This record gives sequence, C-alpha cells and structure tokens, in this order.
Amino acid sequence: MSFSSLGLNPTLLATLHSLGYANPTPIQAASIPEILANQDVMAGAQTGTGKTAAFALPLIQRVIETTDTTASSDKSIRVLVLTPTRELAQQVYQSFVKYSDGLSVNTVVAYGGASINPQLQALEQGCDVLVATPGRFLELAIKELIDPTTIDKLVLDEADRMLDMGFITDINRILKRLPARQQTLFFSATFNDDVFALSKTLLNNPKLIEV
Ligand code: AMP
Repeated sequence: MSFSSLGLNPTLLATLHSLGYANPTPIQAASIPEILANQDVMAGAQTGTGKTAAFALPLIQRVIETTDTTASSDKSIRVLVLTPTRELAQQVYQSFVKYSDGLSVNTVVAYGGASINPQLQALEQGCDVLVATPGRFLELAIKELIDPTTIDKLVLDEADRMLDMGFITDINRILKRLPARQQTLFFSATFNDDVFALSKTLLNNPKLIEV
C-alpha cells in the first residue's frame, strides 16, 4: 500500500515524501479514501497510530478541491476539529500546518486559558480549518466572533476523552450552532455506551474503521 494509491494529490505526496513518510499506517490506509469520498467515519485509534494525518491529509485535499477561488471572501471556516485539550489542539494544528505546506489552506488554533486576541487576529487572516477546544469554540460562537454557519466538516478527536472530561454539554451546545453537516469524522481510542451514544447522534451511515 502506498500513499499515491489512496488518491492524494501530488503536492501532498511530495510533502509526505519530504517528511520521510514512506507508507501509510493502517488507520491512514483505511480512512483516507473514505474521507476523500465524503464518507462519515467512526474510527478506533490510539495516539501514535498516525490518526492525525489520517484525517488531516484528506481534509486538506477536500478543502483545496472545493474552494471557490472566484469567491470574494475566503474567510469562511470549512472544517472544525474539536479536541479535549489545548495540548492536543496545538499538536493537531501543527500537523495541519505541516501537511498543508505549499497549499493555500489556512489553519487556526483556539483554546481556553490563553488570551483570545491573538486567536482573533489569526482568524482575521482567514481560516479554512479551525482546531479548537469546546469551551473556546463556544465562546467565539456565542460572542459572534466567528461564523459557524459555513462549517461543513466536523472532526471529534479523542471523543472518549472529551466525554471523560465532561464536555458533553458543550458538545451539544456546539452542535446546535452548526449547520447540517456534509461530513463528520469521529475518532476515539476507546468505546463505551456514552461514546456510542454520542457517535449515533453525530454520524450518518458511518464507515467503521478499527486498527
Ligand atoms: P499521531 O498518531 O497522529 O499522534 O501520529 C504519531 C506520529 O507518527 C507523528 O509524529 C507523525 O508525524 C508520525 N506519522 C504519521 N503518519 C506517518 C507515516 N505514514 N509514516 C511515518 N510517520 C508517520
């Protein structure tokens, strides 16, 4: 199995080559074609399996493929990635930046416990992909500092940890502010009744991937 057989574009393939990623990991091989095909995905994957690239690479490609270059405003947020912690938000953000090298995809990270102003300045520069913790995303949405109505792809990263940390109320409040989505990707290291219940409310005929 090679990255080129998964349908990724030449710029992404060149980036992966320069990063020294020879072959996709199992979660990447299973997820990338499904995500490129706009499928909802429910994936069981631990940290260290390459799960971030498994969703970041195809999402970057889909943003590029569906950006209307004739539109006057490029400030609309297309993808929202929710993470349980600011550390994970920063890691996911860095991955998007690394993988979108040479492509016009802007990623912004927003998390609580830090000043909101630099995050607002970054958003002002244009944001295709917003990586955020639930509380800070809600704050931005409630204060109308962002427009969530253009988000058509949602990723829940480490969904089990989000529930363990008590984010279910925040997640439900966020969902009420998002439009009917085109695609939802649900990643969790473990599955229990609560995780399944949340996945059911979010996913539409998902492809199940376990590695
Ligand atoms: P993650 O599971 O997303 O936290 O990724 C774990 C680590 O694996 C990160 O440092 C990635 O840079 C690295 N990585 C992801 N995919 C690959 C790959 N296909 N080949 C080599 N390293 C990879």
